Amino acid sequence: MDYKPQNVICQNCKTQFTIEPEDFNFYEKIKVPPPTFCPECRLTGRLLNIMERTLYNDICDNCGKKIISHFSPETSYKVFCSSCWWGDSWDGTEYGKDYDFNKTFFEQFHELRKIVPCQAMNMKNSTDCKYCSGIDRCKNCVYVFSGLQSINCYYCVTPIFVKDSIDSDFIINGDHVYEAFNSNQNYNTKFAYFSDGSLDSAFLFNCLGCSNCFGCVNLRNQKYCIFNKQYSKEEYQKEIQKWDLGDYKIVQKAEQEFMKLFYKTPKHFANIINSTNVIGDNIKNSRNCKICFSVFNGVENCKYIFYSGLLLKDSYDVTLGGDTSELLYQATGSTRCQKAFFVRASSNLVDVEYSENLYNCSNCFGCAKLRHKKYCILNKQYSKEEYKKLIPKIKEHMMNVPYKDKDGRIYKYGDYFPPEHSMWAYNESLIQQYFPLKKEEVKKCNFSWHNPPERDYQITLKTKDLPNHIKDVDDSVLNEIIECEHNGKECNQQCSTAFRILPNELQFYRQMNITLPRLCPNCRHYERLKKINPPKLWHRKCMCNGVESYNKEYKNTIKHSHGDSPCMNEFETAISDERREIVYCKKCYQAEFV
Ligand SMILES: [Zn+2]
Ligand SMILES: [Zn+2]
Ligand SMILES: [Zn+2]
Ligand SMILES: [Zn+2]
Ligand SMILES: [Zn+2]
Repeated sequence: MDYKPQNVICQNCKTQFTIEPEDFNFYEKIKVPPPTFCPECRLTGRLLNIMERTLYNDICDNCGKKIISHFSPETSYKVFCSSCWWGDSWDGTEYGKDYDFNKTFFEQFHELRKIVPCQAMNMKNSTDCKYCSGIDRCKNCVYVFSGLQSINCYYCVTPIFVKDSIDSDFIINGDHVYEAFNSNQNYNTKFAYFSDGSLDSAFLFNCLGCSNCFGCVNLRNQKYCIFNKQYSKEEYQKEIQKWDLGDYKIVQKAEQEFMKLFYKTPKHFANIINSTNVIGDNIKNSRNCKICFSVFNGVENCKYIFYSGLLLKDSYDVTLGGDTSELLYQATGSTRCQKAFFVRASSNLVDVEYSENLYNCSNCFGCAKLRHKKYCILNKQYSKEEYKKLIPKIKEHMMNVPYKDKDGRIYKYGDYFPPEHSMWAYNESLIQQYFPLKKEEVKKCNFSWHNPPERDYQITLKTKDLPNHIKDVDDSVLNEIIECEHNGKECNQQCSTAFRILPNELQFYRQMNITLPRLCPNCRHYERLKKINPPKLWHRKCMCNGVESYNKEYKNTIKHSHGDSPCMNEFETAISDERREIVYCKKCYQAEFV
């Protein structure tokens, strides 16, 4: 059909957004009405339904064992430990309900998810992992979220095929990686951001294929560079002795010098590698993607995708999904799915809508926690014929009798779950990491806020009393409860106020010559997040003023095509104009850095 662009006012934030002809074609293809919430409100709605870092001590409602859970013991949800949840002693269809045409769909779904057992923390095919969730095929991991096939990883988010690594987020194929963000194929590398294929290096930003480099920005296939300065092998080996990362004071100095160079060196307006026809930021090996952020390896014909990859096609509004999926819409944490709309934390689905924690299911609607099922609605089993007859009636009912939330927003077929039905509070869910708000602000927006549980431990070691050098750390540190330098005060980063060092972790720091951390794992993760751009775009002008950058921090090294007059190029960038970075267009950037 021939569509025209249409401007719509978002039900939630009241800003205007445009539905393009290509979008209408997509909604037509999946037979879902166009959205009534803007792309950002759709993203925040999904993030509110993803839980990572809030953990509780609880008891499994099936076997009575002590467990670590994403659900506070006070919640009304029924919670099972992983082995009970995956066991055969129960089946989700036991909780099946008839569809009630006198109630809204969203109310009925919310009632259902309150009675079907939840898995304390979602783990699949994983062994010897502690405090992890959203992981699949992992081994010996601690405090890892959304990991895939990774071994011996500690405090990582989305490690994929990674081993022996600590404090690193969104990394693929890494080995002995420490403090990295969005960096792939690295070995023995520390503090690497948006840098791939590095070896024996530290403090890198946007470097590709570098080895024996320290404190470098925007380099390609270099060796023996320190703060972007080339050394001979012998000089490098002498010079690098000064940068002993086992020493906390030297790490702080290195970070300072690195950030100085970072702000002095122009950034490409978008971090895009080996991709064609894409708009967004941090896109690798993908094509035909619009308004996508942090997508990698085979994302094609997609829009509004955030942190997804490994073959994801023809999809809209996906967060943490992919791994051979197509036609996903408004989905989170879902992998190996085809035609799955409004689903969360699921895998191997075909033709599923408005469901969560479903595994190997097809033709299900409004279901929670099912495995190997077909033709279910609100967890009740139907025959194929009954199912096909009932689904159109339910969709019509959702259109005619929408759910209305307490602020008057309405939710029909085609809208995501209402935020007030999220199982978690604002500051417990992933939304706090990307759209951080303070308690008062959250209350004002009518989201719920969760007060962290009272700590029942005593800090035994102050941060200031930690040895400066890793070589001076005694094994006794394993018995200490160490204060987080932020100590929860003025800290809006889910600070757990204290932390421990684990035996394998200590061995790693000693082997890699890394000073002990001073912050709790949550604060460490939030500090890394500060180095990335938000999932938003700003229309900006190139900051090249002819022979230097507008802020005079960077002198061009070569004459640009626009000569000595300012560059007039404009672009969409995720670096807002309030930030300090120097942002160059593709031409000016390539003139300087290739
Ligand atoms: Zn909005
Ligand atoms: Zn159990
Ligand atoms: Zn902390
Ligand atoms: Zn330019
Ligand atoms: Zn220029």
